[in-house]
Amino acid sequence: MADSKLRVAVIGCGGTISTEAATPLDFIDYPETGRKLEIDEVLAALPEAVHELAAYVPIPFRAVGSSAIGPGEWAALAGIIDELAAGATDLAGVVVVHGTATLEESAYFLHLTLNTDLPVAFVGAQRPLNTIGTDAVVNFAAAVRTVLSPEARGKGVMVVLNDEIHCARDVTKTSTYRLDAFRSVGWGPIGVVDADRVHFHRAPLRAHTAATPFRITADADLPRVDISYSYAGADATAASAFLEAGASGIVSAGFAPGMPTPLERRFLEQCAASGVAVVQSSRVGSGRVAPRCYLEDKHWIAADDLTPQKARILLMLALAAKHDLAAIRADFKLY
Ligand code: GLU
Repeated sequence: MADSKLRVAVIGCGGTISTEAATPLDFIDYPETGRKLEIDEVLAALPEAVHELAAYVPIPFRAVGSSAIGPGEWAALAGIIDELAAGATDLAGVVVVHGTATLEESAYFLHLTLNTDLPVAFVGAQRPLNTIGTDAVVNFAAAVRTVLSPEARGKGVMVVLNDEIHCARDVTKTSTYRLDAFRSVGWGPIGVVDADRVHFHRAPLRAHTAATPFRITADADLPRVDISYSYAGADATAASAFLEAGASGIVSAGFAPGMPTPLERRFLEQCAASGVAVVQSSRVGSGRVAPRCYLEDKHWIAADDLTPQKARILLMLALAAKHDLAAIRADFKLY
């Protein structure tokens, strides 16, 4: 019975999960040849069994590939979800339908900024909605079942693909085309979505959502932070261009266990000495960058186990909140 269904808001951002490919086997060219559907069209394309799970409240936001989503969209999304959570007391949860390219970044931003414990799950797909063997439908159903689970409340923003529930902080896309692309490298998912039930086996320990100090207005103009990627022989050309462009922070995606080339290092030392926030992360995709003596002495910040793209988000928020060096170092331990 329609009336007895729980209400789930579904925010449309686009992505592969919202794409109608031109042919049933197009897993590759669809960004150019396919059509991005609006969220009500996505919902209309889903089978009846998915509509039996909940009553959907479609919220059109964007219908784009997620390479076109960035800080402006993150702040606007945070505003939309906080408003939904504050206004609609009968809402059971929120599902954000998003492209996989930047999904982990949007999700982590909201994990740090939302002011609610309403379950929020990001979902994407590796194959377009109308292709053979698409993961769009099953992933969407899993995300809905996740936010409807009583255990989902208070877990922060979750990312649901391939029957797994990941914490937005830990998850990253690890493959271009494989269906098991999303992984929380080193830590694993926080739960699974099985046919009989949604099962959480751990909770995130780092503070998130309402327990962070990062409140953002929907039209927030976030400080510019760039990522300087190290490779053998790299000099400081990129980092100095970022500074020239107005960066107030630079994240070094350095070699493991956490250092750039000598030329980059010399330049970044000057940056840190002049008050630019410098975060040392690693380009290898797993493991911590520890706050070793060198970083402490030169006023750099250790990224801990955050990937460079996640470290950038935390640094943007810390700078927006006017945190000083000591506070930013604490942020990288807390969140
Ligand atoms: N997976 C891509 C995304 O992040 C789809 C590519 C595209 O349609 O631009 O949206």
